[in-house]
Amino acid sequence: MAKYSAQTLAVRTGIESDSAHGAVVPPIYLSSNFAFADFKAAPQFDYARGGNPNTQLLEQTLNNLEGGQGAIVTNCGLAAITLLMQLLNAGDKLVVPHDAYGGSLRLFKALAAKGQFELVIVDQTDTAAFDAAIADKPAMVWLETPSNPLLRIVDIAATCRKARTVGAKVVVDNTFLSPILQQPLALGADFALHSTTKYINGHSDALGGVVVCSDAEVAENLHWWANCLGLTDCSGLNNYMILRGVRSLGARMRVHQENAGQLVALLTSHPAVSKVYYPGLSSHPGHDIAKAQQKGFGGMISFELHGGLEQVETLLKHVQLFSVAESLGGTESLICYPSTMTHRSMDAEAQALAGIGPTLLRLSVGIEQAEDLVTDLTQALNAVVEN
Ligand code: PLP
Repeated sequence: MAKYSAQTLAVRTGIESDSAHGAVVPPIYLSSNFAFADFKAAPQFDYARGGNPNTQLLEQTLNNLEGGQGAIVTNCGLAAITLLMQLLNAGDKLVVPHDAYGGSLRLFKALAAKGQFELVIVDQTDTAAFDAAIADKPAMVWLETPSNPLLRIVDIAATCRKARTVGAKVVVDNTFLSPILQQPLALGADFALHSTTKYINGHSDALGGVVVCSDAEVAENLHWWANCLGLTDCSGLNNYMILRGVRSLGARMRVHQENAGQLVALLTSHPAVSKVYYPGLSSHPGHDIAKAQQKGFGGMISFELHGGLEQVETLLKHVQLFSVAESLGGTESLICYPSTMTHRSMDAEAQALAGIGPTLLRLSVGIEQAEDLVTDLTQALNAVVEN
């Protein structure tokens, strides 16, 4: 299947693979255990924590989409991150961005505080600081590009080249774009990671995560760790649902992105808005890199309002087609206030350092009709100006 585009692989992987009845869509396996035909030889699946046919098919599909050599599906994105932390030993250095998803930073800091590894937090768009962190011979470099919530862009290929010279592994959290719009392994990364809760599932009704590896042996080792630590997604139903979401990933990403383009045009021209963060804007500092390493600019937008909390409250009170909620990547549009929502686990100092200001808002643009979204956001922004 490798010769096909990511969109085709998303639709076709595993279709018509049911040897029992020829079901076009593979069935759901809910059984927690599987019988041994020969008690002396373990079957391919024996106990669902170690895997079941739905987990395996989701892993194959996501591995195909990212062009990997093995994938491990986990019960949420943070479990996928926890899994990768098993590759680090006491004394190893992990370089992470100062503006990563708040839950990722909380995990990195908590594990570092227990002595699991040494944490180096750096603004990865500050080339001198980032180069110095890499020169210090870390074992792993963590990228989140575009980052959450400010959509900062890091050059994946250039980072991988530098990391290679000191033997560091590079992980890219690819949650914000999905493999339809960015394929980190092709740019030299060792691991691509997703919270599949987001675009990959795409319907805000299942949690999951995945680590896709560039090396089959490492993937096997991580499979072992995932089972050992209980990080796997043992639910056949959950994996079935996430795979069902994957089928429409290519089509959804197209609409998310088209809608985002129209909302960016509104935001950049509206007097209530002081700043718009979107890598598709030529004024965005990471625009050229994004253009080179991404196949599109995605469906996430952040922006700031003139004024303060009162203006934020007015906007959130007036939007009707944007649910005020955390998470992202679903078919429905969401608006989020990172400071008290997604990034509240970061203290005020860390938020200020990451650029999460008092009027920063983040949109996860859904696949509703673009004109409806523009009309709704326009009336809410007008209310901000009129108040
Ligand atoms: N990575 C990114 C970029 C995220 O935005 C999130 C969650 O919002 C995660 C990882 C964690 O994923 P999960 O919530 O599925 O554990």
